[in-house]
Amino acid sequence: MIIEAATLPADTELTADVCIIGAGPAGLTVAQQLISSGLDVVVLESGEEDYDERTQALAGATLVGDGFRFNGAELDVAQTRLRQLGGTSNHWTGQCRPLDAHDFDQRDAVANSGWPFGADELAPHYKRAVTSCQLAVNEWAPTWWHDHTGAPILVDTDTVTTSVFQFSAPTRFGPELKPALAAAKHVRVVLGATALELQVTPDGSRVQAVTVSTLDGQHSSVKPGVVVVATGGIEPARLLLLSNGVNPAGLGNDHDVVGRYFMEHPHAIAGRARFVPSADLSFSVIGGRTIPGAGDRLVWAGLSPTAKAQADAGIGHGVALMFGAGGGSPREDREQATVPADAVDQLVTLGAGTASAPVLTVRVEQEPNPDNRVTLGDDLDGLGQRRAVVTWRMHPPDWHTVRTTIELIADALGRAGLARIEIDPSGKPIEEWPVEIGNHHMGTTRMHADPAHGVVDAQCQVHGIDNLYVCGSSVFPTSGMANPTLTIVALAHRLADHLRREVRRR
Ligand SMILES: Cc1cc2nc3c(=O)[nH]c(=O)nc-3n(C[C@H](O)[C@H](O)[C@H](O)COP(=O)(O)OP(=O)(O)OC[C@H]3O[C@@H](n4cnc5c(N)ncnc54)[C@H](O)[C@@H]3O)c2cc1C
Repeated sequence: MIIEAATLPADTELTADVCIIGAGPAGLTVAQQLISSGLDVVVLESGEEDYDERTQALAGATLVGDGFRFNGAELDVAQTRLRQLGGTSNHWTGQCRPLDAHDFDQRDAVANSGWPFGADELAPHYKRAVTSCQLAVNEWAPTWWHDHTGAPILVDTDTVTTSVFQFSAPTRFGPELKPALAAAKHVRVVLGATALELQVTPDGSRVQAVTVSTLDGQHSSVKPGVVVVATGGIEPARLLLLSNGVNPAGLGNDHDVVGRYFMEHPHAIAGRARFVPSADLSFSVIGGRTIPGAGDRLVWAGLSPTAKAQADAGIGHGVALMFGAGGGSPREDREQATVPADAVDQLVTLGAGTASAPVLTVRVEQEPNPDNRVTLGDDLDGLGQRRAVVTWRMHPPDWHTVRTTIELIADALGRAGLARIEIDPSGKPIEEWPVEIGNHHMGTTRMHADPAHGVVDAQCQVHGIDNLYVCGSSVFPTSGMANPTLTIVALAHRLADHLRREVRRR
């Protein structure tokens, strides 16, 4: 059932076995997976089905540090998220890839790295996430793509490998899942319902109420069995910090970890390639491939240092993605994000020649740094809630990963006789170019088995609070270089399984 919060009588108290806050890919996947569980589910979504300016303004935050630059424009934090049924999937690009196995490891090269579980734990859930994100196949090995689609693999050596990305439809989780949720007997999706605070018992061990407001300030509440906070990568930390009725530091924040270790995926224009004419770049630019049983789908292959090369070089995970050759400045080339299939021949020709060549944009994993963080500021939003302050900067290990990634790739392409890479293509050091973001917010309620180092445990449960979970990229301890949504949806599937078992037992 879909309900408008504004139609509920003032001070309504709903009860639910599971109260999910946020109806983006994370929250809606959990809700969908619980439809047949018999559990009574309430989903609180701040937005409506359609975009609404006043609601969107609730996502406004102050940005401190390096700025959020995307496609050449400086963005406000609110421009990087959508408050609407379906969340930010209403305008995501749909680029997908799971994390690599070593992304889960504790790595000497990356301070504060290590998930509490390995890749095997998420593998079955990635399979389900591939279906949820409407991808063609759960296959990522370059050899599979070569064997099944004829994709030419540029490089696959001990130091540099090919990393395959698939594109989702892109799936709009709101329109996609709304019919099933509207028809579900035990699910109520409440729109225009912004969660204001999680009220806990006097000993702080359980959430006993979620207070809610409409845009016009009409209040209601939910009495939850368990609560799942699925409000993206920044807002979960904000909600925990705002919920300071018992612990002035906020919920789950006994060790001052809530909000810390915020990560983005920095993108830097790092190189320009001159390829030999025989180099087949058709898998290296975004383009259609015919996939057995799934028809034509958009795919894209980048080049990445292998896990061993990363460890040897003391860097995090990075990938170089190729953008088309327009004959203009690297900036203009970067903006040609999609190269039509028939431009590939031209690209190869240009690569051999004189005027211009593909630009290599390096996207890197950021080292989790406690100084990159979300805190509460003094500005208030339209509901009188303190807005978030997001402090985000590139730190030396991040630039080290950018530069070393492009150097390793340049070396591998050169050794293979495929290309020469001009590093620092603008004529000044990469580090002096403004870095761009990926619109990927991660890490602010990180997962760690030890409450001193993480906000949630391996099951995404907030340490010390019996019935409070977080689902989304805020729980990522590290980010790898893959876009986050496939992993978010995999974690949502896994959490739904856990809740189906746990909530029954309570
Ligand atoms: C331009 C752009 C392109 C992107 N492209 C890609 C891509 O190619 N690949 C990729 O993997 N990712 C991409 N992303 C990121 C992707 O959109 C997010 O990873 C994904 O949407 C996160 O899902 P989520 O459910 O965790 O959060 P969101 O989608 O942000 O949803 C959170 C929901 O919570 C609601 N909410 C927030 N606060 C409250 C509150 N207090 N009470 C009630 N509800 C609340 C919001 O209204 C929203 O509906 C892109 C993002 C942008 C902006």
